[in-house]
This record gives sequence, C-alpha cells and structure tokens, in this order.
Amino acid sequence: MVVSCEEVWREVSNYLDGEVEPGLRASMQEHIRGCKRCAAVVDGTRNVLQLYGDERMLEVPLGFSQRLHQRLDENMPATRRNFLGWMVAAAAACLVAGTIEVARSSALHAPELRSEHAKPGTGVPPDMMVVVSEDGKLFHVAGCEFIHEKTKLRTITAAEAERQGYSPCVRCMKKYLVTA
Ligand SMILES: [Zn+2]
Ligand SMILES: [Zn+2]
Repeated sequence: MVVSCEEVWREVSNYLDGEVEPGLRASMQEHIRGCKRCAAVVDGTRNVLQLYGDERMLEVPLGFSQRLHQRLDENMPATRRNFLGWMVAAAAACLVAGTIEVARSSALHAPELRSEHAKPGTGVPPDMMVVVSEDGKLFHVAGCEFIHEKTKLRTITAAEAERQGYSPCVRCMKKYLVTA
C-alpha cells in the first residue's frame, strides 16, 4: 500500500498514538522514511503531542488540563517547554493573523474597488516613504507581504511613486485609500 503525504498528515496524530492499523502503519513508516517533509511533520506533531497530550485534551475541562500541565511540568525541562509553548503561541498567532487576512480580503473582494483605487492622488501622505519594485505597478508600505517582486525594490516618497505611475497597494495602503 502506498500512502500520500496528505494521508500521512491526516493520520499523523493517530499514528503517533499507535492507533492506526498495522498495514497502514507500515506504509506510513515506509513513506516517512523516504519523505523529509512528512518526517518533519511527524517530528513537529510529536513535539506538540508531548506538550499538550493531543488535541482532544485541549477541549477537556479546566481541572483536567491543570493536571495535564502538572504532568508536563514534571516531565519536561523548563527551557524546552517554554520554547515549545512559544512555538505553539506563535503558530496560534499566525492562525489569527491568517483569519484577519481572509476577512480583510473578502471585505476587499468587490472588484470595482481595484479599479477605483487605481487612479493616483489618493489619500496617501505625499512625503510618506513607500516601496516600489521595478517590475510592479504598485507602491507599498515597507514590509507589505503583497510585494511580489522582492529583488528590485526602491524606497521613494509616495508623491514620487505616484508621479512615476505607481498606484497604492490596496492591501497595505488601505487605510489611506478613498474608495467611496
Ligand atoms: Zn510525504
Ligand atoms: Zn502592499
């Protein structure tokens, strides 16, 4: 039996719990041995499982999770625990940010908005420093994640960018754009 990466990911929690049937288990082992990506997923999941038991325990009542934390305190060196805790917190933060990003994109979904903001002279402060790429048509706040061409960036003022024909990025310049 050959399993795909997706199957490995779906079953990884059961796999680590020893809850997959032997045939699948063997196939997964075989796959993981040859697949760096899945080996990393298994390692990462094992770390999180060691920290939190498993996802079912995240849903148990408070008293129980206190017991769990006590167990973790006893079993795990402090630095490692803190590091993993930080990792999980960071991952959670990413999820939250991702959700906000999705919400923002759907708010921006109306296509007429894109053509609307394309005309220059929007509300961006003219002396604000912005980032443009040689190949792009947009200017951005430095560090905007929607800068696609990251190799040939220049930092100039918004006024200069608009004079050179760049339009404000609808994502990072959103708060300056008059879209009404
Ligand atoms: Zn794989
Ligand atoms: Zn941008």
